[in-house]
Amino acid sequence: MSTVVFISELSLSEQAIWLSHLNEKLHDEIKLPHQLSDLEALDVDIAIVANPDPEVVARFPNLVWIQSLWAGVERLVTAGLPSHIKLVRLVDPLLAITMAESVLAWTLYLQRQMPSYTKQQQEQCWQQLPVKASSDVRVSILGAGELGLASLQLLSKLNYQLSCWTRSPKDIPNVRNYTGTDGLSLMLKETDIVISLLPLTPDTHHLLNNELLSQLPKHAQVINFSRGGIIDTSALVKLLDDGHLSHAVLDVFEVEPLPQGSSLWQHDKVTVLPHISAPTNINSATTIVVANIEKYRAHGVIPTVTNLKKGY
Ligand code: NAP
Repeated sequence: MSTVVFISELSLSEQAIWLSHLNEKLHDEIKLPHQLSDLEALDVDIAIVANPDPEVVARFPNLVWIQSLWAGVERLVTAGLPSHIKLVRLVDPLLAITMAESVLAWTLYLQRQMPSYTKQQQEQCWQQLPVKASSDVRVSILGAGELGLASLQLLSKLNYQLSCWTRSPKDIPNVRNYTGTDGLSLMLKETDIVISLLPLTPDTHHLLNNELLSQLPKHAQVINFSRGGIIDTSALVKLLDDGHLSHAVLDVFEVEPLPQGSSLWQHDKVTVLPHISAPTNINSATTIVVANIEKYRAHGVIPTVTNLKKGY
């Protein structure tokens, strides 16, 4: 029987839940790093990982590929894996549906002025605000990969005016596609709600800085559901304070959990969410991970891998 190593920085209870799900379905034996001697570690060709310590990964020099339990793998990319090890991130249609639901929910939250009604309730103020039809709302998504595409498809059912910005050109029904820095500027100038579903890479780090956020029309709104590092938070806060932007929904932060002292907690134009827009579903993720490993054992096929040069 082959052995798969499970490397994580999860709490012991979270780790136990994952191991029990995986053990139930996987034919291979799953071991934790400390259960394998250095000699036994040489025989391990697959690792299942969740936020692994890169030094622990390095104890397994003959890994052929690594299966991440998360969709975002920037930490592993940055850690600099040996070039012969392939990195496979979690691609789960259920995760994409969950993200699309979050995108729709928080787009409606902004479109239907929920932040203003929350404030009005606190002030016992009875005031009806104008309703904008979804066909009059311009929503732009940064990224149209697994999560961005599912989100665009769901939003298109409500007739939003949709755009997306990607690295390579796309042909998506009912969606205007932009590429390149000029394309990004053009798109932002015509956007009411911008949503980040970009991976964090050297190219996207602090992409939404003062210069780009300032190109959004006055009163535009921002949703970040991918990684905190995509936005320069101080530039965002300045533009919210200046009144140029009207609200931001942030699910991800450069430091998580968001520190107690952060001014974002109290900011009346910021909605803080605790990284919940698309959590990994343990049942569907286990099924996908097990299928990937079984396919590799049977046919030697490694699933689609992360491009370490592009960073995603
Ligand atoms: P994906 O399938 O790899 O798609 C990434 C998209 O971003 C692609 O459309 C890609 O363009 C575009 N892109 C990347 N770099 C770009 C650049 N420099 N310029 C323009 N476009 C660029 O990723 P995904 O599965 O949709 O996931 C996106 C991110 O969501 C993950 O990396 C993760 O950080 C985050 N996430 C968050 C949660 C949460 O709960 N908050 C949950 C899961 C994932 P091309 O199509 O042209 O390559």
